Amino acid sequence: MRRVLPLLLLILPATVQGMVWAVEEAPPNILLIYTDDHSAAAVGCYGSRINSTPNIDRIAREGLRFDNAFCTNAICAPCRAVVLTGVHSHLNGLMDNGDVFDGSQPTFPQLLQGAGYQTALIGKWHLKTDPTGFDHWAVLPGQGDYYNPDFITSEGKTRDEGYVTDLVTDRSITWLEEDWDRDQPFLLMTQHKAPHRSWMPGPDHLDLYADVEMNEPETLFDDYATRGSSAHEQEMEIDRHMYLHYDLKIEPTDEELAELQGPDRWIKGMRERLTPAQLAAWDAAFRPRNAAFRAAGLEGRDLVRWKYQRYIKNYLRCIASVDDNIGRLLDWLDAQGLADNTIVIYTSDQGFFLGEHGWYDKRFMYEPSLKVPMVVRWPGRVEPGSTEEALVQNLDLAQTFLDVAGVQAPDRMQGRSLLPLLEGQEAAGWRDSIYYEYFEEGIHNVQPHQGVRTDRWKLMYFPGSGEWELYDLKTDPNEVRNLASDSTHAGQLDRMKSELDRLRAFYGVPGES
Ligand code: CA
Repeated sequence: MRRVLPLLLLILPATVQGMVWAVEEAPPNILLIYTDDHSAAAVGCYGSRINSTPNIDRIAREGLRFDNAFCTNAICAPCRAVVLTGVHSHLNGLMDNGDVFDGSQPTFPQLLQGAGYQTALIGKWHLKTDPTGFDHWAVLPGQGDYYNPDFITSEGKTRDEGYVTDLVTDRSITWLEEDWDRDQPFLLMTQHKAPHRSWMPGPDHLDLYADVEMNEPETLFDDYATRGSSAHEQEMEIDRHMYLHYDLKIEPTDEELAELQGPDRWIKGMRERLTPAQLAAWDAAFRPRNAAFRAAGLEGRDLVRWKYQRYIKNYLRCIASVDDNIGRLLDWLDAQGLADNTIVIYTSDQGFFLGEHGWYDKRFMYEPSLKVPMVVRWPGRVEPGSTEEALVQNLDLAQTFLDVAGVQAPDRMQGRSLLPLLEGQEAAGWRDSIYYEYFEEGIHNVQPHQGVRTDRWKLMYFPGSGEWELYDLKTDPNEVRNLASDSTHAGQLDRMKSELDRLRAFYGVPGES
């Protein structure tokens, strides 16, 4: 594809020229594959002790793995708004999952569309307003369903029969094959619902890991000693807060069904959504295991261990489908001869607790939910098999995509283009700390907090209780020794408080910490 842009530039006013790519070669296609709640600890190339992900690993092997990639606000909708806008939650206005996204503010898809990209978004959206900046979109309502999901498009709602991760990929490939105009570069955002709760495996993976005992995290039975009140008061423990039927897929008896409370009641609708054939396959897999569970009569730590095994296996089965479907997209690019001119990014909105501290879910600034997997392939530009230690965030993606397309980013964006890092350059003055903020109250009872993380230290502050937590990630990677009250670390605490103040001023955070 040769460029007609030099001609175009002659007739555009100077202010508009800056919005148009200014690179010599054709800008690349951009494929962002984005998942929901995928912990880096469940990715093979990040050293997973519990699963393998050959296709995500392939992106890393043929490209670059970011080893210190983090989210800004560890819940679903806020992360998505940060990716789109390139500004922190307190500026884009989407602070928690209850907020509605203002799609009139600048986003990178709008800017790429304006610069000649053909743009599409398929899968989870979760921002309540219709997507803006896309030539085509088909999104799941809310969190979406694993089986036979509805999709909302500009023309209304339709229901696709099948498994959501396969269907999101089907729709992505169909858009590329039938709607994409090859005279334009594409931006395709393939956004999976998986592996978000309620962790329903697809038909291809119902029996995966059936006879395997998964490794337990070292902190499965954490007692939260030294941690602040929020860690003690949270409601996200595998032991006490997981639902036996909704989360853990124990089919209730008719008698039990009549008595169910809370989300456990939803298991009826979950089962009714499946086709008879899907339900037969589901029951063939789960009924013998469920019968064994009931017969065992587990209690205490044995019961927690069983819940962990049931949870983690279903979570990883969902990821197995994600990985298979990433392979389908990579194979499609290969078959079409498009791999060389397509930048492929795989990342997740935030991480997840896979039993660390005894928890599931996310929200806290602790490493398992703060850290995200992020791998990037761009043949000819990114050295295969490379890794990067710099501290990067989802905040950087918008400017990265604009930069690779040669489009100028708006001044309001607060991240940094990752392009120099992708190309193996020393990025002068790269950040040496990241800012984190969490606002949601109520769900899972995690208190709002903010914090700063460097390559070694992490400081968290909970305004509601006035509590501080300080961790030395080098000597305490599991974050079980809060040093905020340790007088020998008073100097470090002060330095981190100053850094937090500096970052809050830098990012324009209202109020005082
Ligand atoms: Ca999420």
